[in-house]
Amino acid sequence: MPRLKTLLESLAARPLQCDGATGTQLQQLGLRPGESCERWVLDQPEKVRLVHRRYFDAGADLLTTNTFGGTALALAAHGLAERAADINRAAVRLAREVAGERAWVLGDIGPFGGILEPVGETTPDAAADAFRAQAAALLDGGADAILVETMSDPAEAALAIAAAREAGARLVIATYAFQHTPSGFRTMMGTDAPAAVRAALEAGADIVGANCGTQLSLDDYATLCARLVAAANGAPVIVQPNAGSPERDGDSIVYHTTPEAFAAAAAHYLALGARIVGGCCGTTPAHIVASARGALGK
Ligand SMILES: [Zn+2]
Repeated sequence: MPRLKTLLESLAARPLQCDGATGTQLQQLGLRPGESCERWVLDQPEKVRLVHRRYFDAGADLLTTNTFGGTALALAAHGLAERAADINRAAVRLAREVAGERAWVLGDIGPFGGILEPVGETTPDAAADAFRAQAAALLDGGADAILVETMSDPAEAALAIAAAREAGARLVIATYAFQHTPSGFRTMMGTDAPAAVRAALEAGADIVGANCGTQLSLDDYATLCARLVAAANGAPVIVQPNAGSPERDGDSIVYHTTPEAFAAAAAHYLALGARIVGGCCGTTPAHIVASARGALGK
């Protein structure tokens, strides 16, 4: 089996397909509300591997580890802070068992779950330490790149990106969650797309973009995508929208975007200059296979 070229080299030649949601897939496999997704890396590894397998079979070039809440700070809420390194290393192994050398494994880093000083109580040093330790464990496990995602605060994103670099990451991808505001798309912390992208690039990100954003439709994402491409100044852009806005249906949250509509949107984002398309909350292997075939011609 040929070894993968570097991600950036491949990206220069063709757009790439990222995978879809992990959390909503694990819920379908029995993860209960409030239960730690990351605990399943240790307790239900076969189910985590199954989600990776479904996305790989769907045509994903990039598999994301199940470590969104994998900093010791975020894991502390589940009494798992001490297991952080084990969880992150094991999570990479699960994705790698599926990816082999035929797909890249992105070591996933989400927000640490609190707010930085002076608004919140976490010092930048404490957050940076937690991000650095998580990135080190992900890279030690064999991640090809680090994905810093669903960020709202550019200062937190910058800490995570710099920490990943310090831990030895050769490639860092950074994405923010944007919302609607009276002054356009902004993160929850009030940052617009150009400022968010600038902060990520200055901190050392190679690839920048957006994911999630519960209020954003697939059409909103097209507008956002064009802004990100303009702001990225030649850096590759990744977009990973949700399967539309979540709606409540009794006790559960449902997403209504069909795989066909998702694939058509992905093709539109690529035409607007995005180089990686994938999915966030509510997207399924059916959305990813439709996108891989319909938008990327795989
Ligand atoms: Zn999401």
